[in-house]
Amino acid sequence: MHIIILGAPGAGKGTQADIISKELELPHVSSGDLFRRELEEESEIGLAAKSYMEKGLLVPDDITIRMILERLSETDCVQGCVLDGFPRNLDQARVMDEALDRLNRRIDRAIYIEVPEAELIRRLSGRWLCRVCQTPYHEVSSPPGKPGTCDRCGGALYQRPDDREETIRERLGVFFAETAPLLEHYEQQGKLIRVNGNLGIDEVAGEIVSSLRAQRSYG
Ligand code: AMP
Repeated sequence: MHIIILGAPGAGKGTQADIISKELELPHVSSGDLFRRELEEESEIGLAAKSYMEKGLLVPDDITIRMILERLSETDCVQGCVLDGFPRNLDQARVMDEALDRLNRRIDRAIYIEVPEAELIRRLSGRWLCRVCQTPYHEVSSPPGKPGTCDRCGGALYQRPDDREETIRERLGVFFAETAPLLEHYEQQGKLIRVNGNLGIDEVAGEIVSSLRAQRSYG
């Protein structure tokens, strides 16, 4: 089963993809995490992606698609995966559809987590992440027990450099201009599931899991 999680920055894609991947026992493939790892390793891909990521712009498709298709060809993804952050535009979606088709695989469902824009800005501007396990915190609504330290693993917390207000607005603009057209793409294919992302983490996860189950029994 191949599932795509769609949503604006701050909609909770990473958090939900993590929960769904455990629930369905499928790997969680996050393009943003893959890029951040490449950046840390100062690899060729990381260095090529750096300036785009810092500005909140999309990394060019040739680099992004090559990185994702390589990841999808790894053995743990053969039965499917939960994709978070990819595709981000129609060209990426089309190239992936063709590549999966050649492997006799396909996207089964695209889940869109809907959150109002003002709430997205509020979430992103107070967001802190664990450097080790990526658990997210919010300085007002879900602070860690001990400032700067992850409750789950004890790792140090950090703020993503692209979570600054100016870059947040750029990333939201990119989402509405380039990624939102994907909703129609998957709607036309009868694969889109919309969930209300303006609820607590467990409630959103519950909505996603129950709609996947409901679709599975009808599809
Ligand atoms: P994310 O963690 O998903 O918000 O991604 C962080 C940054 O990585 C984005 O702002 C882009 O610069 C880059 N990125 C992640 N996924 C993609 C993608 N599918 N296409 C192009 N750039 C991406």
